Amino acid sequence: MSENKLKIEKIRKGTVIDHIEAGYALIILNLTGLAESTNLMTIGVNVSSRKIPKKDIIKIENVFLNEVQMQQISILSPDATISLIEDYQVIEKKKVTIPKTITKLIICQNITCITNSHKEPIDTEFLVLEEKPLKIQCVYCDRIYKLEEIIFTSQEKIEKKIKQRIQL
Ligand SMILES: [Zn+2]
Repeated sequence: MSENKLKIEKIRKGTVIDHIEAGYALIILNLTGLAESTNLMTIGVNVSSRKIPKKDIIKIENVFLNEVQMQQISILSPDATISLIEDYQVIEKKKVTIPKTITKLIICQNITCITNSHKEPIDTEFLVLEEKPLKIQCVYCDRIYKLEEIIFTSQEKIEKKIKQRIQL
């Protein structure tokens, strides 16, 4: 048994997010809201693996991911795998998949886009043009975004929260 496998199976119950793009673990934790969890978490950053040069890994006790969180992870790390653990055993292992269209999760930064209209705001919707490297297009204004240009809806919420705290 390889050392990596041993590390993964150590968790009693919960979720292991493996094969995360190196350097993305903390970004994923913040975006998915998992960073605010009070459950035990183990985070490995720049872990060496035989398959890929370096990767990140997140293990969280007693937490199972929802559909939105899985989509957020797929956008940031299309090669990530999610393992569900019960009694130290992997009961389900799945690869994340990027949806063909991404709704609500990402903000369109074009101020003239209808999704930013104050009168009749509508949910954002992006077409996935390419998965890796990621390229998405707003269905309303046609603006194209690369991964590093994307702003997530949850990111904006976190920033608002921080601002509120500072003001207090
Ligand atoms: Zn737009």
